[in-house]
Amino acid sequence: MDKYVDIAIIGSGVVGSSIAYHLSESRQKEIIVIDKGFPLSGTSGSTQAWVWVHNKSPSWYGELSMYSAELYPFLEKKIGDVEYKRTGGIAPFFDEEDREKALKLAEKQAEVGIKVEVLNRNQVLEKEPVLSSKIAGATYSSIDGNVNPFRLVELYIKAAKKNDVKFSFYNPVIDIKKESGFFRITTKNEGTYTAEKIILAGGPWTKELGSFLGIDIPVKQVRGQILVTEPLAPLFRHTIAGMRQTDNGEVLIGYSKEEVGYDRRTTMEVIQDTAKMAVDYIPALANANLVRSFSGVRVIPEDGFPIVGEISNIKNAYLAVMHSGVTLSPLVGTLMAELLLEGETSIDLGRLSLDRFEKKSNGAVVQ
Ligand SMILES: Cc1cc2nc3c(=O)[nH]c(=O)nc-3n(C[C@H](O)[C@H](O)[C@H](O)COP(=O)(O)OP(=O)(O)OC[C@H]3O[C@@H](n4cnc5c(N)ncnc54)[C@H](O)[C@@H]3O)c2cc1C
Repeated sequence: MDKYVDIAIIGSGVVGSSIAYHLSESRQKEIIVIDKGFPLSGTSGSTQAWVWVHNKSPSWYGELSMYSAELYPFLEKKIGDVEYKRTGGIAPFFDEEDREKALKLAEKQAEVGIKVEVLNRNQVLEKEPVLSSKIAGATYSSIDGNVNPFRLVELYIKAAKKNDVKFSFYNPVIDIKKESGFFRITTKNEGTYTAEKIILAGGPWTKELGSFLGIDIPVKQVRGQILVTEPLAPLFRHTIAGMRQTDNGEVLIGYSKEEVGYDRRTTMEVIQDTAKMAVDYIPALANANLVRSFSGVRVIPEDGFPIVGEISNIKNAYLAVMHSGVTLSPLVGTLMAELLLEGETSIDLGRLSLDRFEKKSNGAVVQ
């Protein structure tokens, strides 16, 4: 016999587990989270995990990121220490011509309350003496920071479990059908679940989940390769576009972008380019030993912005798919809980709806 739940969430990465936790706070619903692997086997286990705001544009997107960053200290009070650090963020530029762009960014972000400073070389070096003197300037904001994604996902799950959310790991969803108003979710290892509401939070694999329901979710997969140094003495304290230093001293470096599907190999070419970028920014890194590299698959919606909300032609089916899911997870979890439990959200989700692609392509994308 099918197992019944009120809400089934597919995917236990940072997005799915945040939604599960936030939904569970009211303890109103029976919830299950189903994952084909373990919680950090997807993108959330292979990320830089900056909580990054200041140069996200257009400014409405920066504003959402800022609200999410603002939620982190409160989240920590509720679920525990996720090693969130508001380090301030520096995005350097090497070319004086980029100053104009930086000033425009600062002006736009100020309109939504994000304070961005445009620094000259000396001001940058004052903040972070380890940066290269070849840098022409940088944008800076105190709102940026980073978090430990492993602790974050682990503690979302722990808190959700405490509120009676069930998790089913190593259990791929292989089909989803809507029958008589309910979703029948067929899994490989634990039979079928019937759910009143379903949330697709499958990260890069959400496209495949959408195909079970006959919808095309316009996302692409973009590989990112990251280098990790040996633990070093504290070298820099800000989150610097391209790298951050973790609590144990490792420096995580990289922001490569390659459209190679789900291929998670690392390549010598990108490793070399990334190492060169690191030394261009921070010459002292030339002396650091690299101990490993890893890669992850970003899920990037076609227009770059999150897709969050109910699928308009499939009542009670919801999507939560995005890049920058680490930054956005506290806000997305909060808004999805509002949407599913109260039917409305404190911030309008209209801009993030799947329908925006339909409008653009005149009905070609959403079936
Ligand atoms: C190199 C790199 C650097 C990044 N840096 C940052 C950063 O600095 N800041 C930031 O905010 N974001 C960053 N991101 C993006 C961020 O990591 C992602 O947006 C986030 O992890 C996505 O979380 P998710 O829960 O949507 O996806 P995932 O973590 O991939 O979780 C999806 C889950 O769904 C499960 N699943 C999929 N299909 C099925 C199925 N059929 N049945 C059952 N389960 C299924 C998977 O097993 C997986 O566990 C980075 C990403 C990469 C790759």
